[in-house]
Amino acid sequence: KIVLGIESSCDETGVGIVRLAGDGGMTLLADQVASSVDQHARFGGVVPEVASRAHLEAMVPTMERALDESGLSLSNVDAIAVTCGPGLAGALLVGVSAAKAYAAALDVPLYGVNHLAGHVAADTLQHGPLPPECLALLVSGGHTQLLKVEDLAGKITEVGSTIDDAAGEAYDKVARIIGLPYPGGPPIDKAARQGDPNAIKFPRGLTGPRDPKFDFSFSGLKTAVARWVEAREAEGKPIPVEDVCASFQESVADVLTAKAVRAAKELGIGTLVISGGVAANSRLSELARERCDQAGIELRVPRPRLCTDNGAMIAAVGAHVVAAGVRPSSLELPTDPGLPVDVVHV
Ligand code: ATP
Ligand code: MG
Ligand code: FE
Repeated sequence: KIVLGIESSCDETGVGIVRLAGDGGMTLLADQVASSVDQHARFGGVVPEVASRAHLEAMVPTMERALDESGLSLSNVDAIAVTCGPGLAGALLVGVSAAKAYAAALDVPLYGVNHLAGHVAADTLQHGPLPPECLALLVSGGHTQLLKVEDLAGKITEVGSTIDDAAGEAYDKVARIIGLPYPGGPPIDKAARQGDPNAIKFPRGLTGPRDPKFDFSFSGLKTAVARWVEAREAEGKPIPVEDVCASFQESVADVLTAKAVRAAKELGIGTLVISGGVAANSRLSELARERCDQAGIELRVPRPRLCTDNGAMIAAVGAHVVAAGVRPSSLELPTDPGLPVDVVHV
């Protein structure tokens, strides 16, 4: 069966195509993404109206490129999966409307699926099926969550999440403070390689003895960076950008990996998947590798291309849902900007 996935929850228009074999095996046939990130750069964050318009312009060309890449035509498509939440309302609407139109015109079933399940499913396209139980650390511009995944077609539960900023959001805000471009992840990652991670002792959010064990907080860290930079400027001294980046990055990677490994141990789960845009961070994967090896936990991190928003991961959830024999969504499928993570398909 050929499952086509459409993603438009934020600033990436994605169309992916996956072949689902009779034995449940999946092959990635196409993964095309158009991003409007450059149009948001001067605002320092995603502008919803700009993103919606960009999706509208990119949807059909991205679909055509994905079909080209797969060597298939629309008549070969057996099912369509689409992100129906969570995400930006106007952005979601473009993808869901397109998916309904294609599903109706081709007379194939439509499946509204959860974007967050997509981030976890992305890993199965590279590393194969997940074990019966795994822990997922989802770290992106809009989300920072620890999830217990028992079934990609239906059983995902939240173990912990950020109480304020997402990890990627912290990267973007800190980049702005020290004058690096948006999105902040890549330039901070790069600058950090030249810096000393122990130069400045930045706080580790929510790691006190009475703090919630599996929740995260990054707004205090961002404020600490801002205060440090202000104090330095007040003294008339230059800002050691590389050291600030390395020290900030160390705090984020330390907290994320410590809590993920602790959760895996306490819940008795042997596999950790890290996904979302921040999973592309070099220090995060390095420290996760070190700590997982030490704890005897299997670590799975998909390649960066599959970590950031894309349509292939939505096709992958669609394929899991199709394989599980789930009832398709109605053509009235609504979008839900706040869709909870435990609702994998609507
Ligand atoms: P969401 O998936 O939560 O709806 P999103 O579209 O912002 O939101 P992604 O596209 O998965 O999420 O990730 C983008 C985020 O990842 C940005 O905040 C960016 O700064 C961050 N990021 C990208 N590369 C790196 C990196 N190497 N190190 C740290 N952060 C990174
Ligand atoms: Mg994005
Ligand atoms: Fe995402």
